[in-house]
Amino acid sequence: MLQELEFGRLENEFYDKKATAEDFVVCIRNNQVLVKRTKENGIEYPTYDLVKLWAEKNQWSGWKTSDVQYVFRMQDKDYYLWMGEAGESEDESFAYEEIRQMSVFETKAACFAACTAMHLYVWYRNNQFCGRCQTPTVHDTKERMLRCPNCGNLIFPRISPAVIIGVTNGDKILMSKYAGRAYTRYALIAGFTEIGETLEETVKREVMEEVGLHVKNIRYYKSQPWGRDGGVLMGFFCDLDGSDEIHLDEKELALAEWHERSAMPTEDDGISLTREMMRVFEEGREPK
Ligand SMILES: [Zn+2]
Repeated sequence: MLQELEFGRLENEFYDKKATAEDFVVCIRNNQVLVKRTKENGIEYPTYDLVKLWAEKNQWSGWKTSDVQYVFRMQDKDYYLWMGEAGESEDESFAYEEIRQMSVFETKAACFAACTAMHLYVWYRNNQFCGRCQTPTVHDTKERMLRCPNCGNLIFPRISPAVIIGVTNGDKILMSKYAGRAYTRYALIAGFTEIGETLEETVKREVMEEVGLHVKNIRYYKSQPWGRDGGVLMGFFCDLDGSDEIHLDEKELALAEWHERSAMPTEDDGISLTREMMRVFEEGREPK
């Protein structure tokens, strides 16, 4: 999966660090990130000394007086975030690439860095002011938190829990396709957890809403951070309980159908929990 890197891991402990010349800076504009493609390393992020130069020359806009914020360390490199709307670079080998099209990132580490940085970027951007009293917030120096100097409101990063559901019926699994989205491959039923709901209740509700089926024997499989959508995904398998007749929610889904274990139409892409769950089912290795 995306977070299972070739080596090392994402070290996301918070430090109040100052960027040095060779540190990487993730620069975001709309939903795009500034990267360079190289033959040797796949994807590279610009270093702080380059970004400082470009920002001064091309008058990149920042939200605050601080231009960059330390976000995490990955594979022996420190990553910072440009705190504002990034602008043009002065180097033609760098270009803005769409984060949603993850295949543009040739290494998992580069892709995972982009997604995680995007999650933090959205949180920092959306919390420049206190939601309670509208005062500009300040950065805490000990942990990843914003605080309001006027009313004391503490704002922590927001992570939205969501479930992915493999509904099984003996040697069949329910596969679906989204309605009205660019993504046209098979998916599993999925949805965000509502306030006041357990994860098991989310599983039952989403399956009922999207395909009108009852489920039982809900068992947890694995989770995956999904920064692109600000979430954490939790994968569950469950068994059909009762009728297998599908009643499709056509606003959400274009189709939903049962697929035999021996004739699964998809391949694991090594990135998403959804595809891993499909492969695990194909190989008969789902938790029973
Ligand atoms: Zn406040």
